[in-house]
Amino acid sequence: MLSETEITGKIHRKALDLGFSACGFASVEELTELRPEFQEWVDSGRAGEMGYLERNMDLRLDPGKLVKGAKTVISLAASYYYPIPQHIPGSPRFSRYALSEDYHKVLKALGHELLSWINTEIGPVRGRVFTDSAPIFEREWARRAGLGWLGKNGCLIIPKKGSYFFLAEILIDLDLSLSLPSSGLLSSCLLSSSSLPSSCGTCTRCIVACPTGALAVDGPMDPRKCISYLTIEHKSAIPAEFEGKWSDWIFGCDICQDVCPWNKKPLHSVIPEFEPRTGILGIAAETIENMDEAGFIQLFDGTPVERTGWTGILRNFAFLSGGAK
Ligand code: SF4
Ligand code: SF4
Repeated sequence: MLSETEITGKIHRKALDLGFSACGFASVEELTELRPEFQEWVDSGRAGEMGYLERNMDLRLDPGKLVKGAKTVISLAASYYYPIPQHIPGSPRFSRYALSEDYHKVLKALGHELLSWINTEIGPVRGRVFTDSAPIFEREWARRAGLGWLGKNGCLIIPKKGSYFFLAEILIDLDLSLSLPSSGLLSSCLLSSSSLPSSCGTCTRCIVACPTGALAVDGPMDPRKCISYLTIEHKSAIPAEFEGKWSDWIFGCDICQDVCPWNKKPLHSVIPEFEPRTGILGIAAETIENMDEAGFIQLFDGTPVERTGWTGILRNFAFLSGGAK
């Protein structure tokens, strides 16, 4: 019979075999200490039009309620980094994560594969896979599972691997050892008992580089000022105060990740679905300008860009061109 530590090691190896870049484990518990901070954040209005962040606060703070008998959070990170050609100034720019297949489907499928494997190889378990699909503090659980720290740009930073990652979790009613055999696995599976302290140090590159002042040295970011929020989540007109603050970004923004020294040598993705679509890379402004709904579907079907829809992309384009009011 396998020990908890051996089971944990096997799950970890399987996660990496499936293409995940890192995997860690944390005990399910209520995040009571986050409640006042989160409440204050919500009360400050920083959620903007993201009403879903305010709903289900109790579930968000207590993931044990999402899966009966849940004992462990398996936190998974998958790199989406593929090298892309240098951006041509003037052409509309999409955040890296939006250049390929929608990660929700891809990561969910991989997570389900891992869960099925656990059921077959380890024994019957009750579990659920999540990827940006339920009220879960994904980055906080990744931090607790020892994958990395939360940088001043708000991203999870994994040492020697960078921050271009999608996150997923499996909540499982299985007690897993939070320590692994000493077999070198620790390089990609750090443990909740050794959550990493921030290694941002005195660096402020992301804060200085952010064109809209969304980041702060000593406080949480303000999503309402973030280009990612304004071009994707914000459904009303983009406020006039942001006119001229950025150029080119039409869906999301990567500036605060691109300038981060921890992304000098980012871990490349091994997941083929995350390879950027050539039709989106280097797309010309005229293509967007003249695009009808059918053209939008042809280019962006199955990608995260569907979230804004055709009208959203046209709105963002018009804003860049100075025509949105
Ligand atoms: S994504 Fe862009 S706008 Fe948002 S915080 Fe980072 S640099 Fe600023
Ligand atoms: S740019 Fe500097 S401050 Fe910002 S997340 Fe990276 S290391 Fe931290």
